[in-house]
Amino acid sequence: MKKFILFILTFMNLYAATTSVEELTWPQGDTFLTFLERHNIPLSIYYNLSGEDKELASELSAGTKFQILRDTNDNISQILIPISNEIQIHVFKDFNDDYSLDFIPIVYENENFILNVEINDSPYREIKRATNDEALANSFNKAFSGSMNFKTLQKGDRLAIVYERKKRLGRYIGEPNIKVAMIETRGKKNYIYKFNDVFYNANGKEVENFLLTRPIPNARISSRFNPKRFHPVLKRYRAHLGTDYAAPRGTKIYAAGDGVVSFVGTKGGYGKTVTIQHSSGYMTLYAHVNGYAKGIKKGKKVKKGQLIAYVGSTGLSTGPHLHFGLYKNGNAINPESIVKITKSELSKSKKIEFNKLKESLNSQIQASFQNHTNKAPLEEIANITEI
Ligand SMILES: [Zn+2]
Repeated sequence: MKKFILFILTFMNLYAATTSVEELTWPQGDTFLTFLERHNIPLSIYYNLSGEDKELASELSAGTKFQILRDTNDNISQILIPISNEIQIHVFKDFNDDYSLDFIPIVYENENFILNVEINDSPYREIKRATNDEALANSFNKAFSGSMNFKTLQKGDRLAIVYERKKRLGRYIGEPNIKVAMIETRGKKNYIYKFNDVFYNANGKEVENFLLTRPIPNARISSRFNPKRFHPVLKRYRAHLGTDYAAPRGTKIYAAGDGVVSFVGTKGGYGKTVTIQHSSGYMTLYAHVNGYAKGIKKGKKVKKGQLIAYVGSTGLSTGPHLHFGLYKNGNAINPESIVKITKSELSKSKKIEFNKLKESLNSQIQASFQNHTNKAPLEEIANITEI
């Protein structure tokens, strides 16, 4: 394992020779600044970042596994801290032997799977048994939750799923990405397709999913979710792990869904922040707020649409706006993918694209009915992002 990490780092053309790699877990309550202080790394590497990058550094969460690499004199030569499945903080010694910080992509492979099994138990248990992948079973249930009643299934029905998983250093990370899911019952195949991050039925109609409402109705989106993008002019990677809504100071912010308040307080560059834990592993984050609504504190149950806070520009913010984040089992995902005002149907041009995708996925499902062997169940799935 260590050898493999070293190989990758060498491959990435980094400077200092590394002799040891230490894997650590980010402690609860530690901020990036307290961490730098403890390791005698100048705080300026953080203070010199742009506001957007300081905000990104605030994504650091307790429990994340990260690596410290040391040189022959036992000095820290590099630190790699994942902040999402896609991007990580990279602290390193530059050519002048000074510490520097940038954000670099997390390299992973996508592994494709096709599962085709007979249903003699609940779909959830069949999927779990065949793959040992609980997240896959959950995603499958979610995909069909609005359109099928599993109680009507009969023994001998079949299900098939075409999906991919991210793999890094021999471990699966993050959530499975279902491309198409199918249930065959009473001789009829029922399909759900993933298209632009949203599930659609065979007619191209969006199916009911986990729905959130916008935290500020009718606000203009000033910055969209961006998991990782190389900026050709700045020659560096940037990311924005949420959606920004422009709104005047004091605008009311409402809970996007039912849940329990899991955090109220200051969170690095995000300033005053509220987070709400929802069902099925979803969490929403509301940052840069001016103040909290009455009674909003950790452990408080809230309803969808309940007033929780007011727009401000606390933390690192260029002006009053709401940074709205959405996480699935700790991984940042695009809030717009499940924030919907009405159920939508695809436009004509999108429908053509969708139909093409549908055909190719259907043929994969068809093929899985002939001479198909499911892959062996997974041995280990890392819940938390790792490099
Ligand atoms: Zn933002």
